[in-house]
Order: sequence, then C-alpha cells, then structure tokens
Amino acid sequence: MVHYSQCPLCNSGNIGKYLPVTDHFLSKEGFELLKCAICGFVFTQDHPDENNINRYYESDDYISHNDSVKGFSVGLYRLSRRIMLKKKREIVFKITGLNRGHLLDIGSGTGHFISVMKKRKWMVQGIEINDKAREYSVSQRGLDVISPTVISSLPSGSFDCITMWHVLEHFQDPFGYAAEIKRLLKPGGTCIAALPNCMSFDAMHYRDYWAAYDVPRHLWHFTPATFRIFSEKTGFEIKGIRSLPLDVFYISMLSEKYKGTKLYFITGMIKGFWFYLITLFNDKKSSSIIYLLGKQTSSNNPPQTSR
Ligand SMILES: [Zn+2]
Repeated sequence: MVHYSQCPLCNSGNIGKYLPVTDHFLSKEGFELLKCAICGFVFTQDHPDENNINRYYESDDYISHNDSVKGFSVGLYRLSRRIMLKKKREIVFKITGLNRGHLLDIGSGTGHFISVMKKRKWMVQGIEINDKAREYSVSQRGLDVISPTVISSLPSGSFDCITMWHVLEHFQDPFGYAAEIKRLLKPGGTCIAALPNCMSFDAMHYRDYWAAYDVPRHLWHFTPATFRIFSEKTGFEIKGIRSLPLDVFYISMLSEKYKGTKLYFITGMIKGFWFYLITLFNDKKSSSIIYLLGKQTSSNNPPQTSR
C-alpha cells in the first residue's frame, strides 16, 4: 500500500480528503481521494503498490486488455473504439505532419492502435505490461511489443511520436515515465497523452459514481491545470489540447450502471449527449482530454486550445 503524507506533484504537506470512492468495477473496496490545497492535484491515497495491484486488473471485463468478452456494452465499446482509432490516427498524422514516421505506443494493450498505424506504413513499437496482451500482440498481430521493464533498452531520440491513450493515470511512477519519454523523443517530436479529467462536467455530476475514477487502477486524477504543472515539472510544454468526444458517452453509461440505474444505457446516452453539447463551449470541462506535448524549449508558452 502506498501512503502519501505530502502532495506527489508539488510536495506540499497541505493535503486533505476530497472524495471517498468505491471500486465499482471489480473489488467493491473503498478508497479515499485526496486533494492538495496548494496545487489542486487529486490522487488516490493508500493505493496498492506494484506488487499488489495485479489482482485489481484480473477481470474478463477489463476490455482494454481482453478481446474475448461479449455483451451489449462491450459491443458499443468496440464500435466507439473503431471511431476512436480513426480519430487517434488522424491526430497523429495532423500533429506530426508526417505521412510516415516512428511511433511508440505506451500501454498498447492488444495492439489495435499500432496495427492501424502499421497499416499506414508507420514504423511502430508498443510497450505493454500485461503478459497476455503483449504475447497476443506479438504472436497474433506480428507486432514489436516489449515489456516496460526493458524500456531503457530503446535508443534515445528515436521516436517522432509517443502515444499514451489513457495509461499515465495507471503508472506507479509517472515522473520516471516522463523522463524516459523525453529521452526517447526525437527533437521536435510529440508526445500525445489522453487522460480523464476529474473537473469535467460529468465528473462533477456523478461524483463518487464517476466511472473514470476507476480506483485503485487510476492513481492520479488530472485536470488541465494540474497536468500543466506535471508537464512543466517533467520538462515538457503543452502545445495544444484536444478532446475525445465519444469518451463521455461510455463513461456516462458506465457511471449510470454503477449508480444502479435500470435504464443505464439510455440514461447514460442522453446525459452523455448533454455533457457533449455543453463541452462544445468549454472543452477544458471534457470528460477526457488529449494533451499534445513537446520537449520544453522555453518557458511561459501558453497552451493553445482547439477542438
Ligand atoms: Zn500539490
């Protein structure tokens, strides 16, 4: 168990209780979210350490790592995943300005995204901690996917783009990963990090039932403001932000399910659509946010916002 007596982001001792949350997805155990009074960072107190976290991922329903599950919500998840894969591919093409390049996907799961990029003639590599997902990527998809334990073997300055689609919030050592990403990026390269936003409209609405708290798997609960602090501390600058518009439908549906709503699918879709509409006018309140990061070249460059 990892206990914090100071803020993991700014080291202030001025931290206090923010919200008690339950692992609705799997264990039904309770956890406490703390918030730093100085920098506003929200994080999971007393979360399992790296030797004890695995059992919280041991579910057939952990769909990002499993391709054999069935069900209506999973069918919907797969449909939205296809749309998302296209969106992610377009973001990489647009942001890098490259038709071909070298891409590293950290937390590559069963390799859906890097498969898409490989078909588009990109040189791709993946990093995946889950043994089954990694072996599947290699044996069934013919991808080059390695364990995070050997990330240091990758040559410095070798990637045009490094992607992390909803993975940084799972890492026990996000600062260590940020240092590795900085080392691995080519000069002018871009890191694309997608993260849930715990100050989103849907997070405020669902409170402890908000599915993207996903404790204890999610250790860090970033906002645009706290991720900016994290970026600056780790030697990056935020070059822009984008939203992942479909995430809010999935998160709303799942949150309604956790609340026990009988018509959770319909209710989640209706509310998701409402959250989607109101974030058209304020994308910093989106359910999840994609941050476009470059290595720091100068300070005080404000991030640009566009959809
Ligand atoms: Zn702090």
